[in-house]
Amino acid sequence: MGIACLFGHKWDGCRCARCGLQRNEGHDWDLCKGVCLKCGAKQPPQHDWDGKVCRRCGLMRVVAPPKNLVVFAPAVVEGEKTEGDDALITSAALSLVNRATQEQFMLNPRFQKLYAKYASLKLVDQMIPGGGMEEIEEWLSKETGNSIDEIHSNESIRYFHMRGTDYVRSGLRIRFYVASYFYNP
Ligand SMILES: [Zn+2]
Ligand SMILES: [Zn+2]
Ligand SMILES: [Zn+2]
Repeated sequence: MGIACLFGHKWDGCRCARCGLQRNEGHDWDLCKGVCLKCGAKQPPQHDWDGKVCRRCGLMRVVAPPKNLVVFAPAVVEGEKTEGDDALITSAALSLVNRATQEQFMLNPRFQKLYAKYASLKLVDQMIPGGGMEEIEEWLSKETGNSIDEIHSNESIRYFHMRGTDYVRSGLRIRFYVASYFYNP
């Protein structure tokens, strides 16, 4: 330290303009490179992503495509007799998922686009017999690492769901919940 700075340095950002001493503050960061333009200090690069491209330096990145999960929760309506109807219930349940995902959700252009691009034709990733929306969302949250709030905030953008009841035969109804969630892995 020069005598000139005995009573304090003359800081110009991270460097003393008089004696050249450096300090770890006031850097002049090139954020994209993670380098201080004045002293060469380093930090992890931070780009300003606008989708795939950095607004500042134009770097392109690979964005992982979203994945899709379909969850289905069917249950026989309480009090209705089901003896011997197992096969009937199973096939009715499957046709309900089909109807929900391939017809109802498809009415939403956003879903249609995502589905065409990212969803495979497999129907159900997880079946939760007797469950409801709460169970479905808990499962989605565990599977994707997204919080329930996050999942809700994606409603109509990437999270589609519906509920309904339907007759399997006269006197036997099943109620169901079905959800389709696109998430970024
Ligand atoms: Zn100084
Ligand atoms: Zn610096
Ligand atoms: Zn950049």
